[in-house]
Amino acid sequence: MAGIFSKIIKGEIPSYKVYEDEKCYAFLDINPNAVGHTLCVTKTEVDKIFDLSEEDYNHLMQFSRKVALAVRKAIPCKRVGMSVIGLEVPHVHVHLIPLHTMEDATFQNKQSLTPEEFKSVAKKIQNCI
Ligand code: 5GP
Repeated sequence: MAGIFSKIIKGEIPSYKVYEDEKCYAFLDINPNAVGHTLCVTKTEVDKIFDLSEEDYNHLMQFSRKVALAVRKAIPCKRVGMSVIGLEVPHVHVHLIPLHTMEDATFQNKQSLTPEEFKSVAKKIQNCI
């Protein structure tokens, strides 16, 4: 059965899309550590990142870098952090998190945004790609 991120990629579940290419899809995390927290997901549903082929792993890293540079331009922050966790959703994804303090990297403090705010943040990042 398709997982939640596969449903998002297919458009069966809505998301605040930031960017996509033939192999990866980027969208805003619905429960962000910080405004602009973006997930870069492989279109192929593989659970663990180091099980990706070398080619797909390298592609995901290049894709994430491209999106991270746009996040950095669009969202005021000290730097963009990158995490790979996958304990909640077993489908390879890279977290790109605009960092202001160490707490932003800990997944303890969460921000709540209105749908309009999510749309506006996604648009700002899209415009920087
Ligand atoms: P992880 O699997 O890396 O521990 O965390 C999964 C991440 O996906 C979490 O930060 C969570 O907020 C996010 N997430 C889970 N379900 C959804 C969803 O339906 N839509 C979006 N945009 N993000 C989700």
